[in-house]
Amino acid sequence: MDLGIKGKRAIVCASSKGLGRGCAEALAGAGCDLVLNARGSEALEQTGKEIREKFGVEVVTVAADITTEEGRAAVLEAAGDIDILVNNAGGPPPGMWSDWDREDFIKALDANMLAPIAMMKALLPKMIDNGWGRVVNITSQSVKSPIGVLGLSNSARAGLTGYVAGTSRQVAGSGVNINNLLPGIHATDRAVSLDTGAAAAQGISIDEMKEQRSKTIPSGRYGTAAEFGATCAFLCSQHAAFIVGQNILHDGGAVNATL
Ligand code: NAP
Repeated sequence: MDLGIKGKRAIVCASSKGLGRGCAEALAGAGCDLVLNARGSEALEQTGKEIREKFGVEVVTVAADITTEEGRAAVLEAAGDIDILVNNAGGPPPGMWSDWDREDFIKALDANMLAPIAMMKALLPKMIDNGWGRVVNITSQSVKSPIGVLGLSNSARAGLTGYVAGTSRQVAGSGVNINNLLPGIHATDRAVSLDTGAAAAQGISIDEMKEQRSKTIPSGRYGTAAEFGATCAFLCSQHAAFIVGQNILHDGGAVNATL
């Protein structure tokens, strides 16, 4: 399917690996030029090179922490005129409700709520002027079904979800569509790191942990970054022009709910 976004310019935050990279590759496959970002430059440069070679699109890379004001300023300065924004950052660490103090919450809010809001605030005016724009925020299935040990993530992402619910409806009339894409368990470094901690806590191997978690997913397996990216690219396409303020689960059926 032609997504109708060839030649559009997209920022994909936190995209040297994992789900962000999956989104970047799918957008490049649809003919978008890209601004990629991550903190570490080695994997970022490698990803940029591979995407340029595979898809023949323009790729600008900016090594910066997207959760900081300076990091966002660097990305925005390199970006130019942007049509598509994919917001993403690393997720907060797991723990217990009793572990977290004000500073832990501030950090989580900065990363998973205020950073994407700041990126939208910076880029929405131009999208509105152009009469076209797409924003996809990578959040989590934990927005729909809380994961106890990820209380920092549950809290920060719920805040972003509330912001998007209202803002998406304020800008939809200008041809700008904002939606959230909610990953369940996907085979990325983040999943390996969470599995490693959970396996150690239960005294089992990582493979056993993975098998245990796969059984909780009706699809019987972890998702892939490529599948996630394809869904993101569709939400950024011309065909998604009537999808506004939605929270789309990409979880293999893991969240057990009728709606
Ligand atoms: P990942 O495999 O660990 O990849 C994270 C990517 O983001 C890397 O490229 C990393 O590069 C970059 N990054 C992290 N923090 C950054 C920052 N502050 N500024 C700029 N770049 C940053 O993670 P993932 O699995 O793709 O997860 C992406 C998001 O989805 C996370 O918020 C995660 O919590 C959420 N999520 C994931 C799953 C899952 O199963 N994978 C499920 C639910 C929710 P650098 O380290 O070099 O910066």
